[in-house]
Amino acid sequence: MRNTVKQIETSAIPFVDVKTQDAHLRGEILSTLQEIIENTSFVLGPQVEAFESAFAHATGTMHCVGVNSGTSALHLALIAAGVGAGHEVITVPMTFAATLWAIRYVNAKPVFVDIDPGTYTIDVEQVEARITLRTKAIIPVHLYGQPADLVTLQEIAERHGLALIEDAAQAHGATYHGKPVGSFGQCGCFSFYPGKNLGAYGEAGAIVTNNTRIAQRLRALRDHAQSQRYHYQELGFNYRMDAFQGAVLAIKLPYLEEWIEQRCRIANSYRLLFEALPLIVPQVAPNRRHAWHLFVLLHPGRLRIRQFLEARGIQTRMHYPIPLHLQKAFADLGHRPGDFPVSERVANECFSLPISPGLTQEQQSRIGDALLDFFD
Ligand SMILES: *Cc1c(COP(=O)(O)O)cnc(C)c1O
Repeated sequence: MRNTVKQIETSAIPFVDVKTQDAHLRGEILSTLQEIIENTSFVLGPQVEAFESAFAHATGTMHCVGVNSGTSALHLALIAAGVGAGHEVITVPMTFAATLWAIRYVNAKPVFVDIDPGTYTIDVEQVEARITLRTKAIIPVHLYGQPADLVTLQEIAERHGLALIEDAAQAHGATYHGKPVGSFGQCGCFSFYPGKNLGAYGEAGAIVTNNTRIAQRLRALRDHAQSQRYHYQELGFNYRMDAFQGAVLAIKLPYLEEWIEQRCRIANSYRLLFEALPLIVPQVAPNRRHAWHLFVLLHPGRLRIRQFLEARGIQTRMHYPIPLHLQKAFADLGHRPGDFPVSERVANECFSLPISPGLTQEQQSRIGDALLDFFD
C-alpha cells in the first residue's frame, strides 16, 4: 500500500500527455480504422470529407480543406493568395519555424514585426510601418493559443489590399469577440500534429476559408493540382490527408470544447497560484478566449527553475529558445540581436509547464507546489 502511494507521488509528469485525454475514445477509433483497412479507401474519401465539414462548422467557415500538415496548409494558403517571388510577407520572429518555411517555399521575403509584450502576438502598432509596395500578405500567429488582434489586422489588411492568413496551428478553440480563430482571415491554417489542441494519430493539417474559389483551388493544389483525374492546372502537390487521420479527427472533434475548457481551468489555477511570484504570468487580452495550447512563464533564471522542476519529475520545455531572426536559416535577412527586443526577451526567459487536458488535480498540485517551493 505504502509503495503504491510513493509510486504515484514520484511518477514523472510528461510535458505533453496525448494518451490520457482520448483513452475513452480508443475503442471507437480502433473500429473505425479497422473499417478503413477493410474498405481500403486510405487517402481522402468519406472520413476526410466528414471531418472537413465538421471542422468548417466548428470554425464558423464555409469550407475546410484537409491536408497532410500545418506546414502544407500555410504553403497552400500563400499560393492561393498569389504570393510568390518578389513579394513580401509580414509575420513575427517569435513562432514555430513552419510559419517561415511556408513563406520561403513560395520564394517570398519574410518581413518581421515584433510581438506585443502583453499577448506575445504580432504588435499591430508596428505593422503599417513595414508595409511596402511588395507586401502581399500578413500572417499573424495565435501564439500559445491566444488570438492576435484580429479586428485591427483585418482593417489593416483591407486598407492595403493584403491577404490575411491566420497561423492558427496552436489555437483550435480560441475565439475573438466570440468568433473562432481561422474565420477572420482569407484563410485560417491549422495543424493536427499529435500534441496540438486537436491532434491526429500522425501528421495532418487543414485550411479553412469562406472563399469558394480559393477552396476549390486548394482542393486541386493538395491533389497534384488535378481538376479532374490526370488534368493538371498548375504546379501541384501531394498534400492529401490520410483517411486514418480524418477518421481520428472526426471522432475527437466533438470533445475539443471540453478539452479547451480543461486547459482554461488549469491555466486559471496556475495564474492564481503564481500571481504573487516574481514571474511574468501570461495575460489574456480583452474579448479573447485563449485556447491555452501552451502555458508559458517568463523568468531570467529559467534554467535553474527548469532543473528544479526536472529533479521533481516535472518536464518543462521552451517555446521558443531562439527567435527566428537570429537563426542561421534566416541569416540572409541580416538581422542582429536587439532588432526585436520583445521576442528576444521571451526567447531568453520562457519556459512552459505541462497543461494537457488529462493532467490530474494531483499532478497540477505537484507542479504548483514545486514552483512555490523554488521561490521559497
Ligand atoms: C505546429 C505549428 C505549425 C506547423 O504544423 P505541422 O503540422 O507541424 O506542420 C505551424 N505554425 C505553428 C505556430 C505551429 O505551432
